[in-house]
Amino acid sequence: MARYFGSKCRICRRESTKLFLKGEKCFSDKCAIERRNFGPGVQGQRRRKVSDYGLHLREKQKIKKTYGVLEKQFRNYFEKAERMGGVTGENLLVLLERRLDNVVFRLGFSASRSEARQVVSHRQILVNDRLVNIGSYLVKPGDKVAVVPGARAHARIKGALDGAMRRGLPGWLDVDPVGMSGTFRALPDRSDLPADYNENLIVELYSK
Ligand code: SF4
Repeated sequence: MARYFGSKCRICRRESTKLFLKGEKCFSDKCAIERRNFGPGVQGQRRRKVSDYGLHLREKQKIKKTYGVLEKQFRNYFEKAERMGGVTGENLLVLLERRLDNVVFRLGFSASRSEARQVVSHRQILVNDRLVNIGSYLVKPGDKVAVVPGARAHARIKGALDGAMRRGLPGWLDVDPVGMSGTFRALPDRSDLPADYNENLIVELYSK
C-alpha cells in the first residue's frame, strides 16, 4: 500500500492549515505553519487562483490527510456514509472519528494519529478487554479502549497522555488517566468537530 514518507509539515503548508500530524511540535511555536504559512517549494509564496474544483479537491485532501486515510479507503467511507442515511458529510466525519487509531489519539494515548496507528499495530491497545491491532477498526459508543498493562509505563504513551490532559480531551470520551483507559461514550455531534472542516465540499466533489 502506498504511503507518504515525506515531510508532514509540508502537507500542512500545502493545505495552509494545521493538521496536527507531528504531536507536541504542533502545539509549539516550532510549528511550520506558525513560522512559514505559505505553500512549500519555490513557487510556494506565489498567489494562485484556485478553481472551484481545486477548492473541493483541497478540502478532501485536508480531511483525508488529517485522518491519515488513503484515497480508496476514504472513498469507501464516503460510500458507507451515503448508505447510512441522514447527512452524508456528517456521517463521513463520524466514521473517521470512530477509527480506532483516531480514538487512541483523541484519548491521548499517542501524540499523533500516525503514532496511534503504530501503537495499535504493535498490539498495545485493548478494545473491551480484547486485543485489536487494526487501526481502521470502528469503535462503537460504549466501547472501552485501554492500553495493555505491559505498555502503560512507556514514556512515549505517558508523555502523550500528559500533553493531552493538559490541553483537555473531547467531551464524547471519558478517560481514566491512571488506568490508561477510556470510554467512547457517544458519537460526536457535528458541533464537537472542527468548524473549519467543510465536508459538504467533499460530498459535492464525489457527486460530480
Ligand atoms: Fe502541521 Fe504539526 Fe507540522 Fe505544524 S508542526 S505544520 S501542525 S505537522
